[in-house]
Amino acid sequence: MDNDSDLYFRQIPVGEMANLVYLVGSRSERKALVVDPAWSVDALVDQAEADDIEIVGALVTHYHQDHIGGSIFGMEIEGLEHFMTRSPGPIHVQKLEADGVSKVSGIPKSEFQEHSGGDTIELGGITVRLLHTPGHTPGSQCFLVEEAGRPAQLVSGDTLFLGSCGRVDLPGSNPEHMYESLNGTLRKLPDETLVFPGHLYSEEAQSTIGEQKETNPFLRVANLETFLQFMGA
Ligand SMILES: [Zn+2]
Repeated sequence: MDNDSDLYFRQIPVGEMANLVYLVGSRSERKALVVDPAWSVDALVDQAEADDIEIVGALVTHYHQDHIGGSIFGMEIEGLEHFMTRSPGPIHVQKLEADGVSKVSGIPKSEFQEHSGGDTIELGGITVRLLHTPGHTPGSQCFLVEEAGRPAQLVSGDTLFLGSCGRVDLPGSNPEHMYESLNGTLRKLPDETLVFPGHLYSEEAQSTIGEQKETNPFLRVANLETFLQFMGA
């Protein structure tokens, strides 16, 4: 983080499933959004407070319990519901994901700010661009964090991992959509775009689109047919 940058950005490992949570915001405005507040919501909000940053909402990548809270494998994971007791800010959800997020979190849809792909949220000199990247779930979204004159940062949820991609054999998954999201949407981002995944499934915790284009097999398949064979679909 260089001194001239307005970007406030923290990558925080949480929970028992190698999740990575992000604080994204503006240093000049002292405001930030939390990407996927789950597992240790208080610690996330406390971290922002310790940095003298106010949390002004949540960005949801997708509806799975390890990202928004809920019960899974006999575990109760803390998430959006608890987040709402700590922060009044809106919860930004892709419109195709709103039903799923509501069902898993128990929060009524009326509490959500529903988005389409391409929507932006501005915080000071920082723009968060919401990219609709279906495949892992129907309303999965990635967040492109932009600041003038600097490479953008992609918070890629469970769509793009470093060296792999999200599962497409789950209810609501669609391998063809995943192919399009990876090779149509994310592969077209500039090579210098930094990549920050939703899970630490790799040695490194960050990469670039250029590096992933060279090393990630899921970004290197020649066509949809090969991709589907590769995914065992
Ligand atoms: Zn997931």
